[in-house]
Amino acid sequence: MYSGDYFLQIIEGNDEEILKLYGNILSDDRHDHLVEIITTQIPNRYFSKFGMSYIDIRCKNKTDLISNISELRDKNENSPYYDRILRIISAFHDGLWRNDEFYFKKEIYFSEIHVNIGSPDISFYKGKLGYKFSVQPILNTIGNNISSYEFLLRSHEGGSPQQCFASLYAQDIYEFDLVSKKNAFEWASRFVSGSTKISINLLPMTLVKIPDLTKILVDYLSIFNLHPENIIIEITEEEAISRIEEFTNTIKQLRVAGFGIAIDDFGAGFAGLSLITKFQPEIIKIDRLIVNKIYQDGPRQMIVKSVVNLCRPLGIEIVAEGIEEIEEWIWLKNAGVNLFQGFLFSKPSIGDDLKINFPKSTSFTRL
Ligand code: C2E
Ligand code: MN
Ligand code: MN
Repeated sequence: MYSGDYFLQIIEGNDEEILKLYGNILSDDRHDHLVEIITTQIPNRYFSKFGMSYIDIRCKNKTDLISNISELRDKNENSPYYDRILRIISAFHDGLWRNDEFYFKKEIYFSEIHVNIGSPDISFYKGKLGYKFSVQPILNTIGNNISSYEFLLRSHEGGSPQQCFASLYAQDIYEFDLVSKKNAFEWASRFVSGSTKISINLLPMTLVKIPDLTKILVDYLSIFNLHPENIIIEITEEEAISRIEEFTNTIKQLRVAGFGIAIDDFGAGFAGLSLITKFQPEIIKIDRLIVNKIYQDGPRQMIVKSVVNLCRPLGIEIVAEGIEEIEEWIWLKNAGVNLFQGFLFSKPSIGDDLKINFPKSTSFTRL
């Protein structure tokens, strides 16, 4: 089906053939901005009578279009899949999937800047775990400024946060999660300034298990002349939060003290939407599994659009994490996301030189 600008294609066949054909379409430069809307399994084919059929939807109202398609199909009994295909076609006719997130990529320039961030001290927890932090910036690519620096835990030898936690006794994890932030604040106080925020990560259960968390964080901050207003606390939704009452209580205390709250890895776990019914964060960070190749993935595009629609009226800002490709950034920017984090712009740095690539976004043309 052709709308003048966009094609909607329905391809039927066995898995192997379809994958091969789709692969060919993807790599054919006569096609641009290809998006996979749905892939599904069906009991038998619906349009096997025709090798290929083409419908120009511009000269058709929806009723005619649907009856046209019904004439093309093999069987007449209804099936849930067939009804769904008709609903997708009808949505396409209404203009869905024909939006303007698609821009031709002309030349995108990056300007590389270097920030001297000094180097982190190494601290020790209970004498057994040496740790420090690495730093990755979150950029506002509209204003071309650094919105925040996120402090990511590392072991003495540069190991991952997971490795740090795994080397501890279970009962020590939450205390360590909290006390390690003193080290992050110390380093941050040496190079973060102005309206740029400092982002730290805490496990949800750290908020539950340590009742005087707010006071302890405020005490750490005061040592380094920092204020809760400088801090964004990122909370992952990766684990289900038990004891939700204690959790929301701590969130309230953190808010009273002036901290900003972000829900991290939104869309990856299972608690995201229900968390928003409990409290509304200042920031939602969309997980990189959703971001990955979003420009080709219809269902994930619709998830991001609904997250944007959900956040705007609630005054929640959105960060897209894990941006690795220019195309991901362009799509998300045009869908209304302003804040970005990812290797495309800057990799986490363990000290001294932090390299940041700011994109120059002026050279797009509308399709
Ligand atoms: P996160 O908070 O979502 O942090 C972002 C993670 O994604 C970091 O991994 C970062 O290195 C990685 N990343 C950033 N940009 C890209 C990209 O473009 N592509 C890819 N593939 N990865 C990217 P890291 O440092 O291994 O941290 C993993 C997770 O560990 C963090 O995910 C966070 O949930 C947790 N974490 C880090 N520091 C702390 C901490 O102090 N306390 C707690 N509780 N959790 C922490
Ligand atoms: Mn995080
Ligand atoms: Mn995250």
